[in-house]
Amino acid sequence: MSRPSPDHPTTTPSGRPRRSVPGSGLAKGLAVTLRTMTKKTVTEQYPDAQPALPPRSRGVIGLFEENCTVCMLCARECPDWCIYIDSHKETVPAATPGGRERSRNVLDRFAIDFSLCMYCGICIEVCPFDALFWSPEFEYAETDIRDLTHERDKLREWMWTVPAPPALDPGAEEPKEIAAARKAAEKLAAAQAEPPTEPTDPQEGAS
Ligand code: SF4
Ligand code: SF4
Repeated sequence: MSRPSPDHPTTTPSGRPRRSVPGSGLAKGLAVTLRTMTKKTVTEQYPDAQPALPPRSRGVIGLFEENCTVCMLCARECPDWCIYIDSHKETVPAATPGGRERSRNVLDRFAIDFSLCMYCGICIEVCPFDALFWSPEFEYAETDIRDLTHERDKLREWMWTVPAPPALDPGAEEPKEIAAARKAAEKLAAAQAEPPTEPTDPQEGAS
């Protein structure tokens, strides 16, 4: 049973039951229909028309494997425990004579189960090495739930759909990674632009 609201009391101020005018409900309904018909439509004709998503939408997670050090932070912090990582240790020989051997983690498996993921973004936030990124891609529905576990190759493919970061504010300091990459590219370009040195003629000094 619906309760009387203060805006639509069911009784008159004198306490008598309020009578509704016959057909007023129909008129109100038609007024709502008319108002809605004249408003701009908000329905997206998906999939014929693709929705215009914000560039940083949380669609799927991409893995940039080269940056991953298998620190396990993302897997430990994931509230849904839906990141699966396997790795083994490898010994790296000493870089200099008399130096110490080092051990490093080698990634064997990296997978995310998107049937469990709640798109909180914690894994991306906590990754200290910038190995995980949001991609706005969202069309990866599957008929078999097991196919929603994306292995490292699939996660790598998503990486190519990650949008470029937004431009820096005017006057902002250049990020150190970009500065290092730019200097390396400039050095390489300068080395390639230098004319090759001509071999000296051994007869020249003898005469
Ligand atoms: S977005 Fe959240 S739930 Fe999904 S894998 Fe990352 S930490 Fe786990
Ligand atoms: S937090 Fe980053 S570096 Fe560490 S295991 Fe996860 S993806 Fe790899």
